[in-house]
Amino acid sequence: MYQLTCNHCGKTFQVDAVPSVNTERNPELKEKVLSGEMFLHDCPYCGRRVLASFPLLYHDPAGKLMLWLSDGSADTEARMQAAVCGEDFEGYTGRIVDTPGQLIEKVKIFDAGLDDLAVEMAKFVTRQELSKDVDLIFFNLDGADNEITLTYPEKGEMQLVRIGFNVYEDCAGIILRNPSIKNAATGLCRVGRSFVESFLR
Ligand SMILES: [Zn+2]
Repeated sequence: MYQLTCNHCGKTFQVDAVPSVNTERNPELKEKVLSGEMFLHDCPYCGRRVLASFPLLYHDPAGKLMLWLSDGSADTEARMQAAVCGEDFEGYTGRIVDTPGQLIEKVKIFDAGLDDLAVEMAKFVTRQELSKDVDLIFFNLDGADNEITLTYPEKGEMQLVRIGFNVYEDCAGIILRNPSIKNAATGLCRVGRSFVESFLR
């Protein structure tokens, strides 16, 4: 159970918090993560929908992927780090994310067979080309040309930016030639905008 405060009426209530999702054992839970349903709860007092973010492990054994949604507490993250130690997690990609939206984005990136480091770098390049300080979010990889669509909010609407697969491939090439970037992303770590900016600034 997880205590949630409604951001509409301010009352608190308990919700079932699923601590982990194993995509092989519970494919239906994976769908609930992707749709966002996992994180949405109806307030029993005012009936409005409330977004709940609680610590959650997303484990894709076939993809050797572990994504942890953190609540930011040191205790939670120490437990996360301890849980992925050991040879069972050889060859795994481990990421910490801070919001349900970031978790959903990571699932989409890895499901598309992409490297999230290269995607973050492609976002950096795209942000510079746009000359806008916006947080770009991976939306999908689509079409015969493998075009990548990124989104960002502007004036209350979602804007779409399409980038060629070559941008992604160029970024993947840079990572290949600079092992220090890949090495910094081993273990369980956050790979987002600030991670990439620490290398490219
Ligand atoms: Zn409420």
